[in-house]
Amino acid sequence: MISYADIVLPLAQPAYTFAVPEGMTVVPGDAVAVQFGRQKYYTGIVWRVHDRRPGVPRVKSILRKLYDTPLLPAHQMALWEWMADYYLCTVGEVMRAALPSLMKPSGDNEEEFSEEEFRPRTECYIAVAAELHGEEQFHEACERLARRAPKQYEALLEVATVGDETRIATGEVARRLLRADYGALHALCRKGLLVEAWHERTDERADAIFRLPELTPHQQEALSQLRREFAEGKRTALLQGITGSGKTEVYIHLIAEVLARGGDVLLLVPEIALTAQLIERMEWIFGSRVTAYHSKLTGRRRSECYLRLNRSAGGEFVVGARSALFLPLRRLQLIVVDEEHDSSYKQSDPAPRYQARDCAVMMARITGGHTLLGSATPSLESWLNARSGKYGYAQLAERYGEARPPVVYVSDTLRAAKRGERRAHFNKLLLDKIDETLGRGEQVMLFQNRRGFSPYVECTECGWTARCPHCNVTLTYHKNGQKLVCHYCGYTADVPAKCPACRVADVVPMGFGTEKVEEEIAKLFPEARVARLDRDSVTSERAFSAIVADVEARRTDILVGTQMITKGFDFAGVSLVGILNADNLTNGPDFRSSERAFQLMMQVAGRAGRRNDGGEVVIQTSDPGNPLIRQVVEGDYEAMARTQLADRKAFFYPPYARLTSMTLRHRDPVVLREGTMALAERLRVRFGRRVLGPMAPPVDRIRGEYLLGLLLKVESGASSGKARELLRAELKAFAETPSFKTITVVVDVDPQ
Ligand code: ADP
Ligand code: ZN
Ligand code: ZN
Repeated sequence: MISYADIVLPLAQPAYTFAVPEGMTVVPGDAVAVQFGRQKYYTGIVWRVHDRRPGVPRVKSILRKLYDTPLLPAHQMALWEWMADYYLCTVGEVMRAALPSLMKPSGDNEEEFSEEEFRPRTECYIAVAAELHGEEQFHEACERLARRAPKQYEALLEVATVGDETRIATGEVARRLLRADYGALHALCRKGLLVEAWHERTDERADAIFRLPELTPHQQEALSQLRREFAEGKRTALLQGITGSGKTEVYIHLIAEVLARGGDVLLLVPEIALTAQLIERMEWIFGSRVTAYHSKLTGRRRSECYLRLNRSAGGEFVVGARSALFLPLRRLQLIVVDEEHDSSYKQSDPAPRYQARDCAVMMARITGGHTLLGSATPSLESWLNARSGKYGYAQLAERYGEARPPVVYVSDTLRAAKRGERRAHFNKLLLDKIDETLGRGEQVMLFQNRRGFSPYVECTECGWTARCPHCNVTLTYHKNGQKLVCHYCGYTADVPAKCPACRVADVVPMGFGTEKVEEEIAKLFPEARVARLDRDSVTSERAFSAIVADVEARRTDILVGTQMITKGFDFAGVSLVGILNADNLTNGPDFRSSERAFQLMMQVAGRAGRRNDGGEVVIQTSDPGNPLIRQVVEGDYEAMARTQLADRKAFFYPPYARLTSMTLRHRDPVVLREGTMALAERLRVRFGRRVLGPMAPPVDRIRGEYLLGLLLKVESGASSGKARELLRAELKAFAETPSFKTITVVVDVDPQ
C-alpha cells in the first residue's frame, strides 16, 4: 500500500499531498525535500501521513528526508496550527517565521537546494591506533620516535596521556585541545600510529551550579502566591511589580525549580540587543545552562542552537526574543514573558502577524505547562484577565533594598516660556536639576520620543514643508549628514537652499528630535560628556555595546535617547531622568496611546535612582493638568487602568472588543477605493455595523502605493472562531474577484 503525506511548505499555501516513496518512513514533524511547482525545490514539514490518494493525475513523491529525527515536536505543530487559524494565515507562513533560514533551504534545482542546506560543523578527533594499545607496542613505538622524530614523539605522548596521566589512551581527543602541531599529528596518522575521525562538533555544557539569590519576605510571598495559583490550576499568572522590586529574582526561583526537575524554560524578553545585561545576570546565576537566542545570531548559530535543543534531554534554559517561542524545547514547562506589555512582542510584518505573549499563553495550554507574565505596567488586557480571575496574580509593591521610588516633578513648558525660564527645549527646573546632578558626579538620562534632528523642515515665509514623494509624510531632518530622510521608505534628499515653493525664504528645522537635544544640551553643559542612543547612533551591536559600556563606566554624563534607553537598563549612576516632551506621547492618535504613554513614562522614570536614594524625574509638558500625567506622578497604575478601561468600554475597544484590521494597497487610488468599498459591503452583510471604514490610515501612501483601511470590531464574548471562519471566507471570495486581484490585502488580527 502506498502512503501519502500532507506537507507544509514555507508559502502562503495550504498543505500539499505527496507520495512517500517505498522504503522511506516519515512521521509528522519530519523535514523533507520536495519538488513543487514546475521547478522549485523546497523544504517541507510532514504534517499528516495517510493512505488517501489525492484526486490529481500525478502525485509527486518526497525526494528525501532531511534529518534523522523530526524537526518539530508535537506541541509546536499544535501551536503553528492555532496561529494559522487565529491570525488568518497559512501554516506555511508560520513555518517561514518559525524555522531558522538554514533549516528550510530552497532552490531552483537540487544543487541549489543542497548548497543552502545546513551542515553541522564537524571537527577532527584523534586517538591512538589500536595496534599500540598494548603497553609493549606502545613503548616500542615511543622509543623509535624519540630518537628519529622528537616532535612526533611528544605528540604521540600527548594524545595518549591527555586528560589522564597514566592511561595509554583508548579514547578520542578533539584536535583543537591538543598542543601538538598539525604536521606532527598528520605524520603519525600517515604512519598508522594515530587515527583521525571527523565528528559533529558539540558544545559541551558543563553542569552548572545555580547561585540563587535569597528572596526578601515580599518576594518570597509573591513566589508562594504564584506557586499556589499554578497549583490551583491556573495556566497563566501575572506578576505585577514596580521597577526594581525584584521580579527577576522571583522568576529565577521558578526557573530553577523547573530546571532542577529536568524541564525546559523559556524566558522571553522584548528586544534582545537591549537586554544584554539580563543575559549576563542569568549567566551569572545559571552558568552554562543559559542559551541566548535572537535575531542577531548568525544563521548558522541559530540552526546549531535549534538542532542541539531538538536533541536535548531536557533542563534547557533559553533566553530569547519573540522568535525563541518556536524552538523545539521538548520538555517546555515554563515560559516567562518579561515586560509583557512591550509592543515588540507583536510581529506586525510580514505574516504571521502574531503576538508572542498571547502565543506563550496558548502554549501553556497546549503543553499543560505554565506561563508567567511580568511587568511593572501590564497591558490592560492582561491586567483585566488577572483581575477577573482568568489568570493568577501576584504583586510586588516595593523596591528592593534601600532604593526608593523616584520623586517626579511636572514642569509646565508654556508657563516656563512665558516667564522666560526656558532655554532651547529645556525648562529652568530641568536645567537646575541637571546642574545639581552633574555636580554630585551622577548621571542624567534625557528621553525624547523622536530620533533625528527635527521631524520636519518648514519655510518661514509660506509654510511649505518637505515631504516624501513616495509616502504621505514629512521628511525628517538629520543634521548629521545634512539630509532629509523619510522614516518610512528611506528616501533621502538634500535640504533646499531656498524654499522651492515661494523662492523667497529659507527653510528651517522645526520641532526637535534626539539629535537636536544632544546638540543643545552639549552647548548648555560644555564640560559634560554627552552621548546619544537611538536607531541612528546604534549602527551595529558593537556601537550599542560601546555606548552602554560608556554609561556603565561613567564615561558618559548625559545620555540622550529614544525608547531604546527605557528597556531594562540598570545603571547605578543615573539619578535624574528628564522627559522632554510628554505631549507627543499623551496626544497619540491611537486608542492605546494613553496606556502606552503611561507605560513608557513609568519605564523611563524607573531608570532613575535604581541603587541609591533620591532618584528624580522631570516631566516637561504643556498640559500639566492631564490626569494621565498625574497618574504617572503618583505611580498609580490602578487609577490609569480604571480610567482607560472605562474609555475602552465606552468606545468598544479591546479588551472589550476584538479588532481585526485590513489594509488594502494599490498603485491606482480609484481601483483601491472601489475594491475597499466592495470588501466593506461584503463584510457588512455578515458583520453589520461591526465593520468600520473605508478609512485612510495615518500614512496613506507608502512607496508609491495608496492605502485604505477597514476595521472589524467583534464583541470579546462572541464566538471568535465563527467570526474568523466568516471573515476567512469573505477574504477568499474577495481575493478571487477578477477586478480586484491586483489589490494587496493585509490582515492583522489584534493589531497593535
Ligand atoms: P525588576 O526586575 O522588578 O525591575 P530587579 O530584579 O532588576 O527588579 O531588581 C532590582 C535590583 O535589586 C537588582 O539590582 C537586583 O539585583 C536587586 N535585587 C532585587 N531583589 C534582590 C534579592 N532578593 N537579593 C539581592 N538583590 C536583589
Ligand atoms: Zn516658502
Ligand atoms: Zn517615503
